[in-house]
Amino acid sequence: MGELISVVAPVYNEGAGVDRFVGRMAEALAGHDYELILVDDGSGDDSWRRIAACALREPRVLGVRLSRNFGKEAALLAGLEHATGDATVVIDADLQHPPSAVAEMIRRWRSGAQVVEAVKRNRAGQSLGSRLGARVFNRAFTRLTRVDLVDATDFRLLARPALDALLRMPEHSSFFRGTSSWIGFRRETVEVDIDHREGGASRWTARSLFRLAVNGLTSFTSAPLHLVTAVGLAFAAFSAVLGVQTLVRWMRGDSVAGFPTVILLLLVTGTFVLLGLGVIGEYLARIHEEVRGRPRYLVQERAGAAAVAETTGA
Ligand code: UDP
Ligand code: MG
Repeated sequence: MGELISVVAPVYNEGAGVDRFVGRMAEALAGHDYELILVDDGSGDDSWRRIAACALREPRVLGVRLSRNFGKEAALLAGLEHATGDATVVIDADLQHPPSAVAEMIRRWRSGAQVVEAVKRNRAGQSLGSRLGARVFNRAFTRLTRVDLVDATDFRLLARPALDALLRMPEHSSFFRGTSSWIGFRRETVEVDIDHREGGASRWTARSLFRLAVNGLTSFTSAPLHLVTAVGLAFAAFSAVLGVQTLVRWMRGDSVAGFPTVILLLLVTGTFVLLGLGVIGEYLARIHEEVRGRPRYLVQERAGAAAVAETTGA
């Protein structure tokens, strides 16, 4: 065939799941020329030992070990930068993304698609809270940025030109789901059923999801800043009216007995000022991060035939 498929999977404390995943991918990709890039995102368990063992056994497996936990987005980027295929599939290592869908993605790519996105038909194994949170966030994001995230997943195929375009983005805090949509190119979607997790719990905490949401939003839109301006203007109009009314009353000798009003106004303005500062702060923090320009991840070691070839310059 002559065409190479790269598969990139981030791994964080997946332990025994690694072998199962490699096996399932081998089944799903039987008959294809492929490379499987497993990025160990600083796991604290035996994930790396298992990845290295796989890489020794199986020449198509390449292991990349990050020097600590950099988060899924950085791990994805590390994997994408190591991919050499004509098309690259990004998939979770926890088998929640069905490997069986990869064949269909490859078919779509062969018939001309450059980005093939898997969209969720269901959301198995997610609590009501996180489902609701995801829904609200995806809708808000889609509305604010015109990058459609409704039912989107990180499970995607990118053809070489699309991947090269994506890797040209210099941002520090990347948001794969967003940036891989932002680039455009000929896109198609396939529907998949998200499976239940086979082992362990989701690696995301409420806090890391909140960070992801804030990073995603601030890297794609300045709408929250405009919102602060808009609310500020509304406040100005309101203050003008209330101010005049208060003055008129005072001049009429109708001295104001508005203690509750004062309290409420203080609370409302205080809240708004702090929230507004917070929004500005989030953007400032992003600028700070980008300006520092630190590497987005650090590789501690690699495992696999390809890694050896690379270090020996072969
Ligand atoms: N993951 C990672 N680094 C992290 C958190 C997660 O590489 O800091 C990987 C994890 O091993 C899995 C994928 O990202 O392959 C998705 O993670 P998870 O299943 O916890 O997220 P969910 O499926 O709940 O979105
Ligand atoms: Mg998962």
